[in-house]
Amino acid sequence: MTTAKPVGVCLLGSTGSIGLSTLDVIARHPRRFRVIALTANSSVDKLVAQCVQFQPQYAVMADADAANQLAVLLKQSAPDVQVLSGTDGLLTVAGHEAVDFVMAAIVGAAGLLPSLEAARTGKRVMLANKEALVMSGALFMQAVRDSRATLLPVDSEHNAILQCLPDNYVAGAAPVGVRNIMLTASGGPFRNLPVSQLSAVTPEQACAHPTWDMGRKISVDSATMMNKGLEVIEAGWLFGLPMENINVVLHRQSLVHSLVEYNDGSVLAQMGNPDMRIPISHALGWPERIESGARRLDLMAVENLQFEAPDKAHYPCLELATTAWRSGGTAPAILNAANEVAVQAFLDERIAFTAIAQVVEQALEQCALHVADRLDTILADDAHARAVANEYIDSGKVRVPQ
Ligand code: NAD
Ligand code: MG
Repeated sequence: MTTAKPVGVCLLGSTGSIGLSTLDVIARHPRRFRVIALTANSSVDKLVAQCVQFQPQYAVMADADAANQLAVLLKQSAPDVQVLSGTDGLLTVAGHEAVDFVMAAIVGAAGLLPSLEAARTGKRVMLANKEALVMSGALFMQAVRDSRATLLPVDSEHNAILQCLPDNYVAGAAPVGVRNIMLTASGGPFRNLPVSQLSAVTPEQACAHPTWDMGRKISVDSATMMNKGLEVIEAGWLFGLPMENINVVLHRQSLVHSLVEYNDGSVLAQMGNPDMRIPISHALGWPERIESGARRLDLMAVENLQFEAPDKAHYPCLELATTAWRSGGTAPAILNAANEVAVQAFLDERIAFTAIAQVVEQALEQCALHVADRLDTILADDAHARAVANEYIDSGKVRVPQ
């Protein structure tokens, strides 16, 4: 039991999959953590229930109408909660002086500005929102260094890598004595499907992940393996390593969450059941280990652990992401923006699953790259890539659902 003042936590994206897992861990440690702010896009009812349970100082809705509805409902059920809205509201809570830790768990580019604000204001940034690093890795890492923020990855692979590095390792530095890092990937729900059948898969099938329970966007990204592509870029920024020292390994069981190979031939891995409460509690408790609620790993029940090289023809998005990372500048931001548009179009059943890679490739070909040293340049290229992707989808040249 801790007697110190509770740590103030801001949860960006509290109604999502990572948000819910984070609140589950926090609820197990009521004396250790105090929820200062909860935020969501437009899920009013979910946010009301969370406010009643956790009594934060602030509740933020990105959507202004939803914020008005929330304010009305909270007047009855949790009158002490202050309601804010829009990007301004998100920035206010991410950088608030009462906040020590920020869980950055908004999905997509919408998470960039509030995550960056947490980095700029020197918080412990528990980063789930990989898109922020993909879009603006150089600016983000500089903000972390300038403000002496503590950056702890929550993405399970990157959290696993951090756990396999020396205790004094600081994010962004090239780790000493490391030859390679290996990011594991489950291969998603279509790993056994022939490439010829991929164009017929549905959003429901794509969101039914074999080992992880996640939000819809990242579930589709896992099925295309764009998720692993984004994670390679994320790893490049987090661990200061070039592309040739970051490998992707297909591992169907999702029990080994990633590995670090040292110069002497030692390979360290982090294992556990596939439950995001493990990396979340690692980031919340660090450097201590705290109870997460995750089921214990029963090694005797594990029949085998397989590792394979991913098939490039099956996962063209992985290749597109590594190409964008090699191109540098705003290419990863363009890749990410086009992918967000394409994934949404697939979820809306406007394009086929295999058209996601087509749309991203088109955007990378058509959009001019710039040096990614200014936020406005990055946001302009993000917007341009979205326009190009939408135009291409509307052109009728992409594969449509069968
Ligand atoms: P989700 O879709 O379940 O939840 C997203 C959250 O962001 C919700 O609270 C939603 O209200 C909020 N949100 C959505 N759009 C918004 C906007 N425009 N403005 C403000 N808030 C908005 O997503 P998730 O699966 O929890 O993933 C969140 C992030 O964590 C993603 O970047 C994802 O890549 C990363 N991540 C998730 C997992 C996982 O297991 N779910 C694992 C690793 C990394
Ligand atoms: Mg991951």
